[in-house]
Amino acid sequence: MTNGIPIGRFFGFPVRMHWSILVLIWLFAWSLASFTLPAAAPGHGAAVYWLAGVCGAVLLIASVLAHEIMHAVVARRHNLGVKDLTLWMFGGMATFTDEPKTPGADFRIAAAGPATSLALAGVFAAATAAGSAVGLDPLVVRVGWWLAGVNLLLGLFNLLPGAPLDGGRIVRAILWFRSKDRQRAAVGAARAGLVLGGVLIGLGLLEFLSGRIMGGIWTVFIGWFLLSAARSEQQQATVIRLLDGVRVQDVMTAAPDTAPGWFTVEAFVSRYVMARPHSAFPVTDFDGQVRGLITLNQLRSVPPADRGTTRVSDVAIPLERVPKATPGELLVEVFGRLTKDTGGRVLVFDGDHLVGIVTRADLSRILELRSVATPPGDTQS
Ligand SMILES: [Zn+2]
Repeated sequence: MTNGIPIGRFFGFPVRMHWSILVLIWLFAWSLASFTLPAAAPGHGAAVYWLAGVCGAVLLIASVLAHEIMHAVVARRHNLGVKDLTLWMFGGMATFTDEPKTPGADFRIAAAGPATSLALAGVFAAATAAGSAVGLDPLVVRVGWWLAGVNLLLGLFNLLPGAPLDGGRIVRAILWFRSKDRQRAAVGAARAGLVLGGVLIGLGLLEFLSGRIMGGIWTVFIGWFLLSAARSEQQQATVIRLLDGVRVQDVMTAAPDTAPGWFTVEAFVSRYVMARPHSAFPVTDFDGQVRGLITLNQLRSVPPADRGTTRVSDVAIPLERVPKATPGELLVEVFGRLTKDTGGRVLVFDGDHLVGIVTRADLSRILELRSVATPPGDTQS
């Protein structure tokens, strides 16, 4: 939903734009050109209202970008990697490659965005007041006040205390500072986000019932978006908490069965796959060197007519594309490597030596064990 087209670099950060931002620009330009501006400054042609409306909408998107850039600038100052900034239907989003190291950094990175929006609201208000005093056209004055108002709303809305909003990050930083437990704080902030999403959906429904159809639908939409984002943050934070201290060697299947790469698919299926309960095998060559990974999906993709002539090594995922880990690594770090296209497996190497394999099933099992072993009171508050 948020992969957009790159539109350039600002302050050294790559900025991407999702097509849905055009919907937002159109919506703002339309509401300015059709209602707000004709009411405030009558007597102009439609083209003039639309021109002013588009200018206002584009300046607003620039304000949103400034908000995201300031998150990224402060993050960079705290040595976080910034992947990119994305503009989309719900505004902007800065994606970092790692997490803040301290509650103080978490707080400052989160607060930088709303602070920028509130400052922009002040700047637009001051400039508009000055322009109005020297007799600027009422049309321009109206756009100026609108920009000040929307930036004010943007700053205040983002300060609402629930993840994934900036206010939720601030709550997380404060909980983290007080409890010294980052994951517990993340669970708390996500829970606040669930409540906030629910409240917004309720308010949106009330708005809808009281006749403000479009506004109501939009509020419900934002509430629903917050709710689902908060739910996935909660799940993620819970998983990270449960995996605390678990290492790869604690969950891996040691000395896994390997597949001889020189076998034909047909021989391999009848002699290995049928006889063993695994759905993926590390593939070795004649010298016993690991060369890749074969999964049932790859085997299935070979047409039956070709199975007698295709070798296992021809269809295996090459080793350089297979996710790897070391026995001593924390499982949390490996979590993201259990991706779909490589069959959800990580091969565990001690130096050059294959010592184990981790599957998503291993991960589910340890999560279940840990959630039984962790008293429910532990995750409360
Ligand atoms: Zn923000």
